[in-house]
Amino acid sequence: KSKEFGRDQLCFFDARMQQSFLEKSRRERELKQALVDDQFELHLQSKHTADGGLFGFEALLRWQHPTEGRLSPDRFMELAESSGLIVEIGDWVLRQACRYSLTLGEAEQGDRSALSINISERQMAQENFVERVLTIIEETGADPGRLIFEITETLLHHDLERTRQQMLALNQAGIRFALDDFGTGYSSLAYLQSLPLRILKIDRSFVSAMMTHPASLSIVKAIVSMAKAMNLTLIAEGVETQAQIDILRDLGCHYFQGFYFSRPKPWPDIIASLAPVTE
Ligand code: C2E
Ligand code: MG
Ligand code: MG
Ligand code: MG
Repeated sequence: KSKEFGRDQLCFFDARMQQSFLEKSRRERELKQALVDDQFELHLQSKHTADGGLFGFEALLRWQHPTEGRLSPDRFMELAESSGLIVEIGDWVLRQACRYSLTLGEAEQGDRSALSINISERQMAQENFVERVLTIIEETGADPGRLIFEITETLLHHDLERTRQQMLALNQAGIRFALDDFGTGYSSLAYLQSLPLRILKIDRSFVSAMMTHPASLSIVKAIVSMAKAMNLTLIAEGVETQAQIDILRDLGCHYFQGFYFSRPKPWPDIIASLAPVTE
């Protein structure tokens, strides 16, 4: 009896696995098509000083799906990475970001026009990552000094030395690096110090939890003092209330990003908000 039951279970899982496999391959085909049909969009979210001054933008990918509407990265990024399509998508993101960066640079001065781009582990794992980036920058004519690459701690778990070399080469060209979602990974302070990092972004989970959880507030305090010791610029992500800003500013956090100031917006909205170009 139990043997029969086991067999049924097996069939059940088989059917489900097949279903999810089919769904994955359909999604993958759709993702490929999205590149061909130009269905991706970059939305930009501004970063700010505590009193609301502009401190550049972050580019966030959206997929304008033909039947499902606008999809956020949590709906497709995992598949983009596991299928390797992130490499091509990442090139598209960088090229588009470079074009936007040129326009931002004409409208805003200095770091008001800085543009952050998220780079995934899989992209940096390419042998020719540095060359690809430099080629796109050259083709678009963007100023690398206005670009910031956001990487995450997981990247630093493998092949740290190669990552370090890539970062050094890109840094040499003018690109700055930020460590995204900081506090969620397991970075050792020793190797953080060996990297050409300029910015730490405190993960949104700590920012939202610190108001009610003393342990989260302690972690935020530790991150702030570490960043000070390492001379890094600190950005808090996912800031939604004035109370959060007050606490973080008093602790010594430099910049803020979150719905409190602005949601990520499509490019036409960003252009409309830029300083008028003076002749
Ligand atoms: P991330 O780089 O940490 O980006 C911050 C995420 O928090 C964004 O989600 C943003 O919309 C959201 N966010 C910003 N402010 C607030 C707030 O006040 N409250 C809340 N609840 N959320 C806020 P999004 O756009 O869905 O992106 C998710 C992640 O997908 C990003 O996390 C990044 O890791 C990845 N991603 C986005 N665009 C790209 C891309 O072009 N390339 C790569 N490789 N990854 C990307
Ligand atoms: Mg980011
Ligand atoms: Mg982040
Ligand atoms: Mg995040």
